[in-house]
This record gives sequence, structure tokens and C-alpha cells, in this order.
Amino acid sequence: MNIQDINIKDKKVLIRVDFNVPLDPERNITDDTRMVKAMPTIKYALAEGAAVILCSHLGRPKDLNPKSDDRIKFSLSHLVFHLSELSGTKVHFVDDTIGSEVVDASNTLIGGEILLLENTRFYNEEKAGDADFAKSISELADVYINDAFGTAHRAHASTAIIAQFFDKDKRGFGMLMNAELSNARKLSQSPEHPVTAIIGGAKVSDKIQLLKNLIPVMDNILVGGGMAYTFLKSQGGSIGNSLCEDDYLDMARDILAEAKKENTKIYLPEDSVIADNFAADANTKVVASDNIPDGWMGLDIGSKAIQVYSDVIKLSKTVLWNGPMGVFEMEAFSKGTFTAAQAVADATTDGAYTLIGGGDSVSAINKAGLAEKVSFVSTGGGAMLEFLEGKELPGIEAIES
Ligand code: AMP
Repeated sequence: MNIQDINIKDKKVLIRVDFNVPLDPERNITDDTRMVKAMPTIKYALAEGAAVILCSHLGRPKDLNPKSDDRIKFSLSHLVFHLSELSGTKVHFVDDTIGSEVVDASNTLIGGEILLLENTRFYNEEKAGDADFAKSISELADVYINDAFGTAHRAHASTAIIAQFFDKDKRGFGMLMNAELSNARKLSQSPEHPVTAIIGGAKVSDKIQLLKNLIPVMDNILVGGGMAYTFLKSQGGSIGNSLCEDDYLDMARDILAEAKKENTKIYLPEDSVIADNFAADANTKVVASDNIPDGWMGLDIGSKAIQVYSDVIKLSKTVLWNGPMGVFEMEAFSKGTFTAAQAVADATTDGAYTLIGGGDSVSAINKAGLAEKVSFVSTGGGAMLEFLEGKELPGIEAIES
């Protein structure tokens, strides 16, 4: 059920949002994307006259003692002012997540206003998925809405366990969650062909399950980034000092064989930009990816690979992109990633459906200024990958079951 299907008029509505925003040392918000993305649901609830209670985690606090630095550093109090600006309403804050003060604040909260609770991860019970803790939060509200796609793959108290304390007609998804799910499903269920996945990033081990699950769905898989070199070595290539996971060589071979069986074309970069040092000012040259001299490492896909990958992307009708093609944080090794970003944007203009599946590819598409030129940019890196890997997400299951 979605928030629009639930009667929330004049009700107390608890919304689990993902306000896990980056803060600088002065506790200023450096990127408010996650807050902005939660606004449609929050504004809808406010406009319906609901009294809105928001809960979220922020960062990974370790020292939970009442006076610890982590309690200050990871407090949601730093978000109150900006939340009030974004929502255009009064935001009340209590420096606890459960307990009598929170109950009092909730009891006096009026429709059209917001009560922000303190970081759910200030209680170990959150990550432990503790039912009593979840129940205490649930008692504050009539309706529970989960709009935190970024944490939907975690069986935490406020993201999954809490749902059981609300009747089925009093729990549902927020608008962001709904958009994320319908976009992920667009890709995993009957996408328009040709379907292409661009998979990059540092490690094969992180993406192995995703690759396995994508093979039956994809026509093409373009492999880039550090993970390409494990595949290249598995085929007998010399990869010099490039990133390699020797434990995964057999797995890489299996994946290539499986793809062949399924008629999915896996592309490895024909050439690479190599460097004699992992540094922005290293000496560089472009060589065949399977013939990298010792002492040199592949840090980006080369110009031939860029051409081939761009052509495949532009001919695709559906594209998933997860993970950069090289060390895009350094300009000398960023061309593969930014050209891929441009090709994805061009494919979108030509009518393709394109999904940027979280993590570093999101920061690459933002850095390239092309976020508005693709079909959908997911807010949930890990959650999106797990969904596409075919796993059940606890946060989704808890609402639907
Ligand atoms: P991931 O989090 O697995 O998506 O990996 C992203 C990271 O992989 C980025 O920080 C990139 O700098 C890094 N990366 C991409 N290509 C390479 C490469 N060829 N060698 C080493 N690191 C890479």
C-alpha cells in the first residue's frame, strides 16, 4: 500500500526517512539530496493535515554514552533548521528516540507540524532489530510510512520490525520508496531490449552476485573499473600491478562461461590507461588491457574501449549503470566514467530507459552534471543492488507481508 491509499487525515503519521546526510566538521549539511528526496512524502502528509513524526539514522555512531562526541556529531538536531526551511513548517525536536519526553512531544504535536526524533542508532536496539524498541516508537503514531529505500535492505527496528505493530491498512510506502521500487522493477521485469548493464568499481567480489543475476536479464554487460582486471587475468592476460582478486579468478571464468551459454555478451576493456603509480600525477600511457607491464596498473578504460562501450550504450533501449569505469576521482583517469555518463544521457535522449543504480556512479553522474538527463537516479546503493540481485528486502517485505 502507498501513502496515498491510507487515510492519514488528522492522524499521527510516523515516517521512516533516510536523512543520513553528510555533514562537515562544523555540522553543516554538505549534500541535502536525501532530505530533498523525502520532501514529496512529508509535504503530502502535512497537506493532508497529518501530524508528522520523522525518524532516521545518521552515520555510524559507536560511542553511545550520553555525553560522548558521537552523540553530538551524529545528532539529528543539526538537521532541524534545514528541515524547517525545506518543509516550510515548524519542526519540533526531542533529543531522544523513545521515552516520556518523546511521548509528551508526540501528544502535543498538531496537524501540519513535524516532530523529528533523535538518531535511531543512538540505541543498539535499532540495528539489533529489537521488537520492544520498535514497539515503543510505533506507539507514537497511528500510521507507519517507510520512505527510506536506502536502508530497506536492513532488518532494523525502525525500518522493518516496526511494521508489525501497525495493521495492514495503516502501514505503507512513501513516494520515494514507491518510485525506487517501480524503477527497479522496470529493469528487472520485462525491460525493452537491447538491455545493457555497465558494471564497474573496485572489486569483483562486491558485484559477483549482481553479475550472476544480471546474466539472464542482460544482452550486454560492459565491465570496467578495477574489477575488469580479475576477469582479464582469468583469461590469461598480463595485468601488471592492477587491482586483482586472485581468489575470484575461477568465479570470473565461470561468469564468462555462464554468459556465453546465455548469449549475454560480456565486454572487457580492450585497452586501458595505465599508470606507474596510484596518483593523480603519475606517468601514464595507453596499452592493451591484457598486456600491462609489471610496475604499471590499469586505472581507466582506454580510448578503444570507450568507443566500443559508448556505441553499445547508445544502441541500447534499457541501461543499468553501477560503478565507475576508472579512478574517476582523479582527472587523468576519469574519461572512461564521464564518457559513459554522457553515453547514458544520450541514450536517454534517444528514448532509452536508464537507471543509475547507486553508489559512486551517482556521484559521477552528478559531477558530470547529467543527473537530470537520465531516467532515474537511485538513492539506495546497497538496497538497489540487493533488489537487483533478487533478494527480498526486509523493509519492503515488512510492509507487504
Ligand atoms: P565501488 O565502491 O566498488 O563501486 O568502487 C568505486 C571505487 O573504485 C572508486 O573509488 C574508484 O576510484 C575505484 N576504481 C575504479 N577503477 C579502478 C581501478 N582501475 N583501479 C583501482 N580502483 C578503481
